[in-house]
Amino acid sequence: MHRTRLLPVLAGLLLLTGCAQKPAPQAASRDLFAMDTYMTLKVWCDDGDAANAEAAARIEALEAAFSVTRPESDIARVNAADGTPVTVGEDTANVIAAGLAMGAKTSGALDITVYPVLRAWGFTTDTMHVPEEAEIASLLADVDYTRVTLDGQTVTVPAPQEIDLGALAKGYTSDAVMDIYRAHGAQSAIVSLGGNVQALGTKPDGSLWKVGILDPFHPDQNLCVLEVADRAVITSGNYERYFEEDGTRYWHILDPADGHPADNGLVSVTVVGEQGLQCDALSTALFVEGTDGAVDHWRRDGSFELVLVTDDARVLITEGLEDCFTAVAGYPVEVVRRGD
Ligand code: ADP
Ligand code: MG
Repeated sequence: MHRTRLLPVLAGLLLLTGCAQKPAPQAASRDLFAMDTYMTLKVWCDDGDAANAEAAARIEALEAAFSVTRPESDIARVNAADGTPVTVGEDTANVIAAGLAMGAKTSGALDITVYPVLRAWGFTTDTMHVPEEAEIASLLADVDYTRVTLDGQTVTVPAPQEIDLGALAKGYTSDAVMDIYRAHGAQSAIVSLGGNVQALGTKPDGSLWKVGILDPFHPDQNLCVLEVADRAVITSGNYERYFEEDGTRYWHILDPADGHPADNGLVSVTVVGEQGLQCDALSTALFVEGTDGAVDHWRRDGSFELVLVTDDARVLITEGLEDCFTAVAGYPVEVVRRGD
């Protein structure tokens, strides 16, 4: 008797919960080319296409502000100002502030004023070449981020210095995209700006994102896969932009100490953390600091984890990644611990 009564009640309950649960949002994807990079955006939310359209517009606006080559950009205006103060947009001021702060944290391993030396190597153009030592030396004399001043949104870069935000602009950009997705109520999203990946939440089914890191010795293959949620996974490698002359490879990350491609034991640095801006700035800075410098920096600062690949094909991972790291290539892997 009781049983027969319960059944319709249960059926009613099931129906109710069925109605209350909204269907899971579909993925909305968008590909674009900006900041000299192929980008893919993927988000799960009710208005995913609108969220991606907003993200694409934001990316284009940031590119217009940061570009060193577009004459009307904030950075081009600063570089052309001959040392007079220039008012820039809030985003540009934020990224310059982060660049200067990372310069101070890394004793100038990241130096946003290295740009004239990068240009001498041709890394900003299609005609890359080894410059004369005398030219490097004379340009290096004016590489010094401490001479740049930022007062609110007013930037002063004394001539002949010029700045470039290439080391950290994409990290700021992926943070900005995550903000847009959050504002649209998304709980799952993943973007890739070149090799820079940033994930919001988990996959829609609650499992972790699997992010591949390229093998710097065979960049068409993965070195490893990391499983993460709510993280930026940002790599700087010597295989991303380079040229070869007389059998030597020259790449696009310069050591401000000598004006040559940074060659301090590392061929790839991946930084995993919450904020794209910080991870991007660090990936370039730690590439310059080299193996020991990068590990020391990690020990001093608990806010990020690392996958380092050395020039003799060893992989070092910091202990926070131990459980989310799966090797793909066969290189020896060493876990670096805080207590070591
Ligand atoms: P990518 O943007 O190519 O993925 P990075 O984040 O490592 O890689 O940034 C490299 C860019 O940073 C270079 O193309 C150049 O514009 C700039 N750069 C290179 N060396 C330095 C340095 N020591 N300090 C600041 N910026 C640098
Ligand atoms: Mg970087």
